[in-house]
Amino acid sequence: MPEVERHDYDVVVIGAGGAGLRAVIEAREQGFSVAVVCKSLFGKAHTVMAEGGCAASMGNANEKDNWQTHFKDTMRGGKFLNNWRMAELHAREAADRVWELETYGALFDRTPDGRISQRNFGGHTYPRLAHVGDRTGLELIRTMQQKIVSLQQEDYAATGDYEARIKVFAECTITELLTEDGKIAGAFGYYRESGQFVLFRAPAVVLATGGIGKSYKVTSNSWEYTGDGHALALRAGVTLINMEFLQFHPTGMVWPPSVKGILVTEGVRGDGGVLKNSEGKRFMFDYIPPVFKGQYAETEDEADQWLRDNDSARRTPDLLPRDEVARAINEEVKAGRGTEHGGVYLDIASRMPAEEIVRRLPSMHHQFKELADVDITAEPMEVGPTCHYVMGGIEVDPDTGAAVVPGLFAAGECSGGMHGSNRLGGNSLSDLLVFGRRAGLGAAAYVGGLTERPTPTDADVESAAKTALAPFDPPTDGAGENPYTLHAELQETMNDLVGIIRKEHEVREAIDKLADLRARYARVTVVGNRHFNPGWHLALDLANMLLVSECVAQAALLRTESRGGHTRDDHPGMDPTWRNSLLVCALDPARSDGLVPGVTVTRKEQTPMREDLLALFEFSELEKYYTEQELAAHPAAEG
Ligand code: FAD
Repeated sequence: MPEVERHDYDVVVIGAGGAGLRAVIEAREQGFSVAVVCKSLFGKAHTVMAEGGCAASMGNANEKDNWQTHFKDTMRGGKFLNNWRMAELHAREAADRVWELETYGALFDRTPDGRISQRNFGGHTYPRLAHVGDRTGLELIRTMQQKIVSLQQEDYAATGDYEARIKVFAECTITELLTEDGKIAGAFGYYRESGQFVLFRAPAVVLATGGIGKSYKVTSNSWEYTGDGHALALRAGVTLINMEFLQFHPTGMVWPPSVKGILVTEGVRGDGGVLKNSEGKRFMFDYIPPVFKGQYAETEDEADQWLRDNDSARRTPDLLPRDEVARAINEEVKAGRGTEHGGVYLDIASRMPAEEIVRRLPSMHHQFKELADVDITAEPMEVGPTCHYVMGGIEVDPDTGAAVVPGLFAAGECSGGMHGSNRLGGNSLSDLLVFGRRAGLGAAAYVGGLTERPTPTDADVESAAKTALAPFDPPTDGAGENPYTLHAELQETMNDLVGIIRKEHEVREAIDKLADLRARYARVTVVGNRHFNPGWHLALDLANMLLVSECVAQAALLRTESRGGHTRDDHPGMDPTWRNSLLVCALDPARSDGLVPGVTVTRKEQTPMREDLLALFEFSELEKYYTEQELAAHPAAEG
């Protein structure tokens, strides 16, 4: 067996974004030793790229806001498919988590009277996003890293070793979770720079690896988002839910081609920017769907009045939930009213003075100037949908983040349920804090309750090393496949056939194409050695992307309705008989050998919403989503 570096910890957290760091802090505060492993540099995760803000009903901008309204907005945004318990915990705890960040040293933007400032975002009834300009994620990460350093200083004072209880393993990729008797026993991976293998022996692992966007050609996501946590969990025997739901953010850059997909924050619209087609029309007024009729402004004057004063008018349809806005942009472009480069216009220049734009949206101003030579204080931006966020993920217990395999926990974007079929902007950063903390607590409680610790077997370690080295072995006939070629084909397939608008025959074509790519993957060959070898890294990531893409495509085929981040051209509109159904992905035991195993997808009903939560909604609103049969049990149904 190749040489393997070995470490022992109570908890291993895989991922150093917001969810991972919050889990580390909590597990350490409970007195356990924690390894935090991340495949990029420490401090570089998607969380750092988050721009617009973190949603929490602190009521600073409008005192009418409260957790109940946040809960209802989240359920509406997810089209009532959300795990309601997660949505409840999230809405109840988000404000405390933001205030807690201030105790770690975060500095959010302030209102004139010194409270944390909150901005408007799509689908949120009140201004709710705590923010730091348009660089909120950076502040979150900076603050949590600072908190970790302060905990390490405490550990130094107590033990003489800064890393006695928290150690960071950066640029280290986990490729396999190891179990003993069905329980988590550790994690296996390699250092990106040296290729050296490393084994973490630990009874609890928290997955916080983020999303899957790199399976798509046009995406706001960076190279790390290859669905590793999703795939690691599946291979360890855990189920994924909601994988058909992908969020295509309505506003990504469309020009020049080299930057296509890079995000344009919703904060632009939150601060007053408006969408226009090539005829100069503010087209979103034509796209208010029946379920939201009556809740959104119907004229430009009313929409603009709402921006000045939330209480005196209905909200602008430019801030409908993201799935609605993305579909509307798609329609406008299809109808020939798009821009020269296939997007629509996003205009902030005509809405406020130049210096105000630079003050509120410094990153956007810089991004467009540097990347597209566009001055957003003087001209509109060209924008279009980009693959942004995966609602689907690891099925977890809402309260503890525990997955079905004992010792495995998940939080953040790699977990599923919280956002239902569509996430509201700003609800990810708060999700990371709320459920990162809960997963850290869950892992700590689990480890604290163990009487003996599972240990990985040598055979499993050897097998993990062999799998990782497989791309260095060319097929015997010499005809190897290039990982970059396969990745490009995968991205093209998912983008074109399982993208924002789906059709049965196209999804079937994608599934055939994925089968072909899986078969070809067995022949993937890389050259060189294990020292910093990006081709090898991609080859290993590709197996995860293929597995996760299979889940997306199979689930997209089965769900014969359109809801949130899943639009079926051949099944337009929501079907109430699907509202309470989850599609659950698991490894297919009949296709479990091979480098990329097969998956099965089965339909399962969710637990009905608790009555006190259901009672928060008007009966007339529930009627738009629920079946008559479900509503028969509702107290208001009798009246
Ligand atoms: P991440 O922050 O992505 O962290 C994942 C970590 O896992 C990384 O450290 C990575 O290196 C590591 N990792 C992955 N695979 C492995 C592996 N195999 N081994 C070891 N480590 C691994 N949300 C909001 O709420 N508000 C916003 O304003 C907002 N703006 C956004 C702007 C952009 C451009 C993008 C892309 C997203 C935005 N989002 C926003 C979404 C939000 O940022 C993400 O959903 C969130 O940060 C995900 O956090 P996470 O902790 O789950 O994962």
